[in-house]
Amino acid sequence: MTKIVIVGGGAGGMEIVTKLGRKLGKRGKAEITLVDRCDHHIWKPLLHELATGSLDEGLNALDYRVHAAQSGYRFEQGLLRAIDRGAKQVVLAPMKDDQGKEILPERRIDYDYLVLGIGAVTNDFGISGVQEHCDFLDLTEEAMLLRRKIRNRFLQYAKEHNVETEHFQISIVGAGATGVEMAAEMHHAANTLRGYGYAIQEDLLQVNLIEASNRVLPRLDKLHICEAVGRELEKLGVNVMTNTRISEVKPDGMLTSDGQFIPSDMVIWSAGVKGHPMLSTLGLETSSSDQILVHPSCQSVTDPAIFAFGDCAACPQEDGSWVPPRGQTARQMALLVGKNIQKLMEDPGASLGEYVYRDLGAFINMSRFHTVGNLLSCVGGGMTVKGKLARWVYTTLYRRHLIALHGVWRGLLLMTLNGLQRLMRPELKLH
Ligand SMILES: Cc1cc2nc3c(=O)[nH]c(=O)nc-3n(C[C@H](O)[C@H](O)[C@H](O)COP(=O)(O)OP(=O)(O)OC[C@H]3O[C@@H](n4cnc5c(N)ncnc54)[C@H](O)[C@@H]3O)c2cc1C
Repeated sequence: MTKIVIVGGGAGGMEIVTKLGRKLGKRGKAEITLVDRCDHHIWKPLLHELATGSLDEGLNALDYRVHAAQSGYRFEQGLLRAIDRGAKQVVLAPMKDDQGKEILPERRIDYDYLVLGIGAVTNDFGISGVQEHCDFLDLTEEAMLLRRKIRNRFLQYAKEHNVETEHFQISIVGAGATGVEMAAEMHHAANTLRGYGYAIQEDLLQVNLIEASNRVLPRLDKLHICEAVGRELEKLGVNVMTNTRISEVKPDGMLTSDGQFIPSDMVIWSAGVKGHPMLSTLGLETSSSDQILVHPSCQSVTDPAIFAFGDCAACPQEDGSWVPPRGQTARQMALLVGKNIQKLMEDPGASLGEYVYRDLGAFINMSRFHTVGNLLSCVGGGMTVKGKLARWVYTTLYRRHLIALHGVWRGLLLMTLNGLQRLMRPELKLH
């Protein structure tokens, strides 16, 4: 039977494995295996909400093993270490517990088609001190760690500091969508915690949003949206510092390239993404930012039996640009990979579909304060949407993901439960 191995159960990986599992795995037409370093999936665009406690991980995490049993695929937890292309096997690193004790040895899994969707890591641009002193939002564990840190700092500052002279200074480097949304989430957390009796003065929190280019959301070409977001940040009191390049991060703040020192109690680094450095050790051709170079069919340029999609793939477009690292891209590419593999299974000489990026829109959700975005950007420049309607469209992306993973009825039930939970439980999860 044809063996399809998918490494990475993220935004795109979960959609392809669910589709192939139901269509091929359940009908005994192929053996589908999902590999992920974690045992559960949380949709990555929600990680900033997880970091502040706005999101309940209990209700939004999906257990890979349970989902696999229900959806016609097999799950193997492990970290991709290498690909043995001669033997057509993926090699997983030994699995260890929190104390470093080995639970499982190195494992090998056979494949006929291998699909890589292991996402990206935040780009530190080799700047000194970033890895040591900054927090990141690449992994669920990092978001949970950040949640504990933020909560502890609020407790500490509210009790010990003179708010006339001192602030809880949190700096966010990178004013892309993640940085902007995180800045707003921080204000939402402070306001809500105040309501729960935390002794947080109105002006205790100072958020610095630092951006090397000359505006917020530098990769968004809709200037009116960038301006609307800029105004909202100003209303929240976020200190937006554009044209500011960080040259070093220290334990108590950051140095800029023009010699300024920005004192910071906590730095969240969200200055863009790049491929995992490990990808360039797999024997596949990679781009300068460590992403796997693929043809528009999403096949590796080195090996046609290996596909890559989403944040870990460098996929060229007709105009010479690369497909941007976004949730919608990962989903669309993953679904195309699924279709292409099915075509190859029927006819190894089949001509494959090619990925063409169509921007369906971009939405910036500034927590409970404001949502703004552009819908169907690929059609005549799209349509600007604001407020409740924008928030609804924004959350629709997650709803669609839930339906893809759980089916319509189960997906709708989960959404209802989520809605009920929002009504019943505190706005922020405190434990
Ligand atoms: C805070 C935040 C907010 C965002 N908001 C938006 C948004 O509003 N809209 C939007 O379009 N995009 C958004 N993004 C970007 C979006 O999340 C990514 O583009 C998308 O998740 C990429 O999907 P993917 O399937 O390629 O990888 P991911 O979703 O990152 O999944 C990768 C998977 O691979 C696993 N993995 C990693 N390394 C290994 C390994 N070595 N071995 C095995 N498994 C491994 C991981 O555990 C993970 O499950 C946001 C990102 C962040 C961090």
